[in-house]
Amino acid sequence: MTVDQYVAAEQTRLIEELCAFLRMPSVSTDPSRTSAVRDAAEFSAAALRRLGFKTDVRETGGHPVVIGQGPLVAGAPRVLIYGHYDVQPAEPLELWAHDPFDPVVSGGVITARGASDDKGQVYAHVKGVEALLASDGSLPVNLTFLIEGEEEIGSPNLAAFVEAHADELAADVVIVSDGAMVGPGIPTITYGLRGMTYVTIRVRAAGRDLHSGAYGGGVPNALDALARLLAGLKDAHGRVLVDGFYDPVRPLDDRERAAIASVPFDQDAFMADAGVTATPGEHGYTLLERLWARPTLDVNGLSGGFQGDGAKTVIAAEAMAKVSCRLVPDQDPRDVLAQLEAHLTAHAPDGVDVSVTAEGLGHPAMTPLDAPSVQAATTALRQVWGRDPVFARSGGSIPVVSDFQRLLGAETLLVGLGQEDDRAHAPNEKFAVEDYLQGIRVSAALLRALARPTA
Ligand SMILES: [Zn+2]
Repeated sequence: MTVDQYVAAEQTRLIEELCAFLRMPSVSTDPSRTSAVRDAAEFSAAALRRLGFKTDVRETGGHPVVIGQGPLVAGAPRVLIYGHYDVQPAEPLELWAHDPFDPVVSGGVITARGASDDKGQVYAHVKGVEALLASDGSLPVNLTFLIEGEEEIGSPNLAAFVEAHADELAADVVIVSDGAMVGPGIPTITYGLRGMTYVTIRVRAAGRDLHSGAYGGGVPNALDALARLLAGLKDAHGRVLVDGFYDPVRPLDDRERAAIASVPFDQDAFMADAGVTATPGEHGYTLLERLWARPTLDVNGLSGGFQGDGAKTVIAAEAMAKVSCRLVPDQDPRDVLAQLEAHLTAHAPDGVDVSVTAEGLGHPAMTPLDAPSVQAATTALRQVWGRDPVFARSGGSIPVVSDFQRLLGAETLLVGLGQEDDRAHAPNEKFAVEDYLQGIRVSAALLRALARPTA
């Protein structure tokens, strides 16, 4: 029996099993759901045990990690499949057409919290292995599953877990399916993610707020100083003016620019969705290049001084801003933090103290387009979807991906099986039945292709 025949024959059961997984309200952020979170871990573990995988539910400081190890395949590549069994809260419940934890399959779509993010996608891989075993009798690679339960709360225990179990988790390639294709029927390989430096900037100019009549014209003003500092971080062409910021940025080569230009992207739909009438940004780059492959600096929050109704004649002693930088290879988030600190300190007006506190640091990640795993994924996606995949980068950050690169030295392969409009994190989250079944076929084809890289 081929994988295709197996998926066709078992379709009803494959969908029912996913629905059973979706019935568990494994909301990782909600302490009242702890037992459901554990149920979902045990459910994932049981599914892996039925494949003959040596499987454990491992304790962490928080929710457990499920590890499943397939049989040893001497001389074959080592592949790690990562996913998560936890989900976002379902609230607001009144915006759902039905109970978010009572999945409904209708019109070719499975609707439930977690359907696409990420239970449906990780379970497609589990069932892909099942289909491959039914078809071939054995696996072509050394395969390990790592399914965590804290992705939706920022994976606080995962990096330490991976580091502590680096030998056991050692892999040549890590497959992550926790995202979207660029559109229905358009298989997508995401080969780059941006990193992040997020800071709080505090400015202090006086010992207390001062009367603008008694002191105005003779003392430094924290809000004025902060506004000048922030305005000085970028020029009129959207270029970041922080010394050294762009030095490690890998330039976009012609091949990559061509690949990005070939991605189907509807700028009008993008603008309508965001409710914007312009798309300002760094000169010299297309919108998609700026969203995916160029670093950014954005003010995310500003406060200080009098915020109430009416007037209060006061010169603020303190002011605060939140600033995020999205980073691209080979920027280092700690270096960017130091650059920001140096720039802001050097440009602080007389008598004004500036402090910069890091709130979040994450490394960018990129898998080269000519990496053997990317070639193998291209082959697999072409087989299943009957067309070449699109190569995309993502403007967002998934810290665990750079952790896998850094701690395991693995190539990472991001193959989203869902759609951008699956309403992940939102009411009426869905996953197309076709995307689920194709995901199962993709997983099987991918493991076969990774066993014999084409490079
Ligand atoms: Zn997810």
